[in-house]
Amino acid sequence: MSQSDQRRMGGQPMFILNEDTDRTSGDDAQTSNIAAGKAVSESVRTTLGPRGMDKMLVSDDGDVVITNDGATILDEMDIEHPAAQMLTDVAETQEEEVGDGTTTASVLAGHLLAEAESLLDDDVHPTTIVEGYHRASEFAQDAIEELVVSTDLDDEQLLQVAESSMTGKGTGSLPARDLARTVVDAVRHGGGIDRDGITVHTQVGASSSATELVEGVIVDEDRASEEMPRSVSDASIAVVEADLEVAESNVDAEYQVSNVDQLNAALDAELDQLRGYADTLAATGVDVVFLDGDIDDRVGEFLVEHGLLVFEDVDSDTVDDVCAATGASRVGSVDTLGADEFGHAEQLSVETFGDDELVFIEGGDAATAVTIFARGGTEHVVDELERGLTDALDVVTAALSGGVVPGAGATEIAVANHVRESTAGVEGRRQLAVEAFADALDVLPRTLAENTGMDPIDALVELRSAHDDGTVAGLISEGQTGVVDDPVEHGVLDPAAVKREAVRSATEAATMIARIDDVIAAN
Ligand code: ADP
Ligand code: MG
Repeated sequence: MSQSDQRRMGGQPMFILNEDTDRTSGDDAQTSNIAAGKAVSESVRTTLGPRGMDKMLVSDDGDVVITNDGATILDEMDIEHPAAQMLTDVAETQEEEVGDGTTTASVLAGHLLAEAESLLDDDVHPTTIVEGYHRASEFAQDAIEELVVSTDLDDEQLLQVAESSMTGKGTGSLPARDLARTVVDAVRHGGGIDRDGITVHTQVGASSSATELVEGVIVDEDRASEEMPRSVSDASIAVVEADLEVAESNVDAEYQVSNVDQLNAALDAELDQLRGYADTLAATGVDVVFLDGDIDDRVGEFLVEHGLLVFEDVDSDTVDDVCAATGASRVGSVDTLGADEFGHAEQLSVETFGDDELVFIEGGDAATAVTIFARGGTEHVVDELERGLTDALDVVTAALSGGVVPGAGATEIAVANHVRESTAGVEGRRQLAVEAFADALDVLPRTLAENTGMDPIDALVELRSAHDDGTVAGLISEGQTGVVDDPVEHGVLDPAAVKREAVRSATEAATMIARIDDVIAAN
């Protein structure tokens, strides 16, 4: 415990911190926080862009994740340092808000910190840096607004957006264009922007080229009996929340049988009750029943005799999905079921994949939901495919609502230029921070150049001079190298919302970390 942690009251030292507390203050705290933030951002830097590399992450218990996705990498890494943790939060927020741009946001945050560090070394006060960064981020937002290419996007542009978000991700054997088509079809199918109506369902066992759009939902349930039909067209569907078993009486009843006839009568009565369930269901005219409870084996046989398709022990998520897709209303017993409660689908089919059975419910009455059925040879491939598809769905939705800007580093260069040009209007030393912000933005095109195998300095010089001439230019990745050209012409477009959020969340994290001059940690 240092002298400064003691406050003297009436000559008695008073300890305000527990003896086990770890405390780092002033420059030490700042240096260590900034170093941690920079380290995190450095760890994802090489994955940026279409030619970024993947990371293999191995957990304590040996699980392996191979990914190119910034948010996933930072989530899987076991990060303990509190400041580093704030950078993982940046990636997480970015992922939640817009679904893409996680690497961009964390790399930017790391470089905002690095620039802040040199300003601190030059004795610029943290508060000045924070104010300058906030001013600069406003300039950056204005510049992004100016760069929006189009808000009314046609299918070709949406395809390009989906494709640029997926290039570099391991999409297996399938060209990104085909996946992009599936993503755009899914978004267009829902009639526009309801992202919640689109799910991705993964299934190992086929090549990723078998990935397809299902106009409905897929649920993971097995038939109550293998003798039941696998496929029903024009299906009436019921959702019943009950068991189809012998009713257990509340009292611990015992059969008082004194002869064989009485025993048979009791068994007959039981069998009648069980047959009654199946007969009642069949009489309603229903074709398919999703039951949340259990079915007695004997009822199963009667149901098979009636040609019904029944799923038992269905979980509540499936019940929700079935109701939402088909318009079925749940009932509490087979006795109260009638045609009014039925849902309806054009086609319901049960397909077998290895050991799993999946139920495809297509053309449901109430359905706005669609599902991308993603296939891949191994668990790793489908997992990365799922992340790529989910990101692409998010960006296409974001592009439809907020427009697109040129990708491939063009937006970042133009924004950095605008921020630099705006410096003059800022008073005092804050100017330094605004300039530093612009320098930090440069890291994004520089990293794209490095990852593409271009010389980063030449690339940046070429980019800047193109922008000074008033042309929009980015570093388009082509084959083994890259060229400086107009991203819009090459169809490299990013949603404006992704850039806005990256600037917002990176600024927030960097300024928060720069402002800390004291780390007090309970052990
Ligand atoms: P993030 O997690 O930030 O989305 P990515 O690895 O997905 O990181 O890389 C995104 C960057 O790659 C964006 O700046 C985007 O414009 C750029 N990009 C996408 N496709 C191309 C391409 N064909 N050529 C150059 N840059 C591209
Ligand atoms: Mg991306």
